[in-house]
Amino acid sequence: MKTIIEPFKIKSVEPIKFTTKEERIKLLKEAGSNPFLLHAEDVLIDLLTDSGTSAMSAQQWAGIMNGDESYAGSKSFYKFEKTVKKITGMKYIIPTHQGRASERILFSIVGGKGKHIPNNTHFDTTRANIEFSGAEAVDLLNEEGKHPEIRTDFKGNMDVEKLKKFIENTGSENIPLCMITITNNSGGGQPVSMQNIREVKEVCNQYNIPLFLDACRFAENAYFIKIREKGYTDKPILEIVQEIFSYADGATMSAKKDALVNIGGFLAINDDELAQKCRNLLIVTEGFPTYGGLAGRDLEAVAQGLVEVLDENYLQYRIRSVEYLGEKLVAAGVPIIEPPGGHAIYIDAKRFLPSISPEQFPGQALTCELYIHGGIRAVEIGSVMFGKYDSEGNLIPPSMELVRLAIPRRVYTQSHIDYVAEKIIEVYEKRSQIKGLKITYQATMLRHFTARFEKIDD
Ligand SMILES: *Cc1c(COP(=O)(O)O)cnc(C)c1O
Repeated sequence: MKTIIEPFKIKSVEPIKFTTKEERIKLLKEAGSNPFLLHAEDVLIDLLTDSGTSAMSAQQWAGIMNGDESYAGSKSFYKFEKTVKKITGMKYIIPTHQGRASERILFSIVGGKGKHIPNNTHFDTTRANIEFSGAEAVDLLNEEGKHPEIRTDFKGNMDVEKLKKFIENTGSENIPLCMITITNNSGGGQPVSMQNIREVKEVCNQYNIPLFLDACRFAENAYFIKIREKGYTDKPILEIVQEIFSYADGATMSAKKDALVNIGGFLAINDDELAQKCRNLLIVTEGFPTYGGLAGRDLEAVAQGLVEVLDENYLQYRIRSVEYLGEKLVAAGVPIIEPPGGHAIYIDAKRFLPSISPEQFPGQALTCELYIHGGIRAVEIGSVMFGKYDSEGNLIPPSMELVRLAIPRRVYTQSHIDYVAEKIIEVYEKRSQIKGLKITYQATMLRHFTARFEKIDD
């Protein structure tokens, strides 16, 4: 394999702080064994999320200076709208301050009691917004996607047969829309094939159900289609992206992912009436329709980021750098979701820590150890994030216990990634010493952000 280099040089740098292991033990204890509650300054390599953590380009920073801050009809909005329309082909582009604002607006209108929303896998904020509206969020991931050790090309695909059955059983009148998340964040950052999107659209058409994309990582998904799906090798990324969106009736987007910015998002909608309702709600909670929850300068940065993310050299470097970390871990026997996804490596904490039961949160225990050992911040995606409880208070764990190492875009170099691999492998070698955790505080929704834990001593 030939070396693929970062397709940029660095003009501006930010120092990172080194701490000792003793300091990290103390800091993590103060944070209730929840890396979300650490001060970012105390983290050496921050892989908590790829959301809003991108390094912006010189052109994006230039856009920040050029932002038109007019309240209504700013030049920056029209530039943003034009770019998003070119990519999505959608009729109405509604700026929001981030992805979940788009979700909240959309599901406040189409959600509610008695409604059901299928998806390949709902992201946590999507699920929360749907459930908050009173509707049900249903995951219909294909079977392969549920098995971390199976290596296939499109593990993010929706199970089309299950979707048909689900619609038959639920009644299409109770399904205001169907979603596909590209790439499938909660299911391992795995891509969805063009064929799957096309097939889901056909089923939706049969039942008159609109198809919406959770499009946060549309460009990374398009690159996977280009390199893995027959018939797309020679197509420019923009064309692949346009084809993806051509099957959709709408999209929610967090610009904090593939728009390479630190804040922003949008809702893209074709339906006149729905767009009108969304805009009215936008005015109540986000702002006037030509800025949403954003400043003019943010819209400039999003517009430029959406151009840069379609650069094939960038996408090749992006997908390869994640795969590179995955290869190093696999070579050392560390169990991860295979093949590596687009934005993150997901460690299979069930196989990494087989002696810790889901009730003792193996994923959370591993994130704690990664911080203590290497100053690395990762996030649990398992029973803490998605665990449910039955009427007797027994945990109903999700199918997987994962630890996500999300790679910020254009931020870390290959030696940072080499260090991360080295530290994880060292933790793997002494994994038998890692202990489980119990919860000492939790909120009623999205508890993973603020929960506190204590180590279980035997
Ligand atoms: C990040 C993300 C969201 C929510 O976006 P925010 O900008 O964090 O509000 C929704 N869906 C997916 C798949 C995401 O990755």
